[in-house]
Amino acid sequence: MSAAFERLAAGAIARRRSFGLKERRAALEALRAAIGAHESAILAALKADLGKPEAETRLTEILPIQSEISHTLRHLRGWMRVRRVRPTLAMLGTRARIRPEPKGTALIIAPWNYPLSLALGPLVSALAAGCAAVIKPSELAPATAGVVARIVADLPADLVAVEQGGVETASALLALPFDHIFFTGSPEVGRVVMAAAAKTLASVTLELGGKSPVVIGPGADLARAARMIAWGKFANAGQTCIAPDHVFVPRAQEGALIAALRAEITRMYGAEPKASGSFARIINARHFARLAGLVDEARLKGAEVAVGGTADAQARYLAPTILTRTSAEMGVEQTELFGPILPVIGYDRLEEVLERINAGPKPLALYVFEKERTFIERVCAETSSGAVGINVTLAHYLHLNLPFGGIGNSGLGAAHGIWGFRAFSHEKPVLENRFAPLGNFMPPYSGGKLKLIRA
Ligand code: NAD
Repeated sequence: MSAAFERLAAGAIARRRSFGLKERRAALEALRAAIGAHESAILAALKADLGKPEAETRLTEILPIQSEISHTLRHLRGWMRVRRVRPTLAMLGTRARIRPEPKGTALIIAPWNYPLSLALGPLVSALAAGCAAVIKPSELAPATAGVVARIVADLPADLVAVEQGGVETASALLALPFDHIFFTGSPEVGRVVMAAAAKTLASVTLELGGKSPVVIGPGADLARAARMIAWGKFANAGQTCIAPDHVFVPRAQEGALIAALRAEITRMYGAEPKASGSFARIINARHFARLAGLVDEARLKGAEVAVGGTADAQARYLAPTILTRTSAEMGVEQTELFGPILPVIGYDRLEEVLERINAGPKPLALYVFEKERTFIERVCAETSSGAVGINVTLAHYLHLNLPFGGIGNSGLGAAHGIWGFRAFSHEKPVLENRFAPLGNFMPPYSGGKLKLIRA
């Protein structure tokens, strides 16, 4: 049994009394201060793990957590409030309320692609809800995992702990009777987590991945679409769970879209992205080989490299790459790409695209670019996905009044803002009897009919 788990779980009952609004706010303030105090270590760690440009680390790792903390501090009092609900007719004479209570002790398992914000973001929600948490950062981003441990060391040891390690550590933690497991990672490991949770009946939030498609309509502003897609796809070298995975474009506009994407790539990363200070690297040699292999296989089977395609294994650099003439037999159309490779697929009728999307697992995000409302509405209504972005990519992640999560293969439950708070809370119904005629529910029964509940 992990000593950290024992320490945290032992305090669960005392925390119900002593971890109120004031203390939760203090913990969040301490987390905010710790992140600030370790900023240069954070920037260096993300550079070491992912070659992440400093500005991108600030925007995609630090800012989302600091915003989550500020938003939570602003709204926590309201989220924690005991809410009165009106009696239904059958319950006249009672008083009822919903009282959010902390689930207890939580396990947060994080991936490597945004290794800081996906470890500490859920922690904000756990602390807001009044839970203690053990964080298991990803072993594939070891420098950041070390910084997460140093940040957490600034918080009370009976509230948060970090357990570093790989699959073995995660498996050992999953065997412990946590009250809630918040997992971010691949759908394959999501299944392992849910199976482990079945043994202890822990509740789970699963933030998973998959192929997030882009659908371009005939009336889309292609320049604007290309800008958004290039940003969404090539930020963090494509290693983003909600990155556009592939693009469907009306066949007649395929050439124009590719030209616009090429122009955007040059605008963002220069003529030689390898020399750009704004383009990240692939996390490790295994993922580099996987991505380079996907491009090679696609080429061999007849795909064309419209942009990029160059690679440097030593530097774990893969250029922003656009493929055309891909087909369903190629890995690029089958697996989540999770790298800077973008297949552009021409289509003749929207129905084909909708059928294809609906035949696969439900995506984490779906993006549609179009001016015409009926086209947009049709794509929204006739597909199912974790979220939809209209004429935008990625940004729904930053909108804290929206739930963030997947559906089916892309996840279960939601994070961010009040949804994060709810993930770590139990909404406890409390019913108080004042003068309800509940005797009418009790024997002796009169012919199977309730005496009073005619109302
Ligand atoms: P992963 O599933 O391989 O690993 C995630 C975490 O699980 C790591 O901490 C790892 O140590 C642990 N783990 C790995 N194998 C395990 C096992 N057998 N048992 C228990 N724990 C295990 O995912 P990854 O490669 O780190 O991240 C990439 C995936 O995460 C992609 O599919 C991506 O789309 C998804 N993702 C989703 C979100 C989201 O918010 N929905 C965010 C980022 C990444």
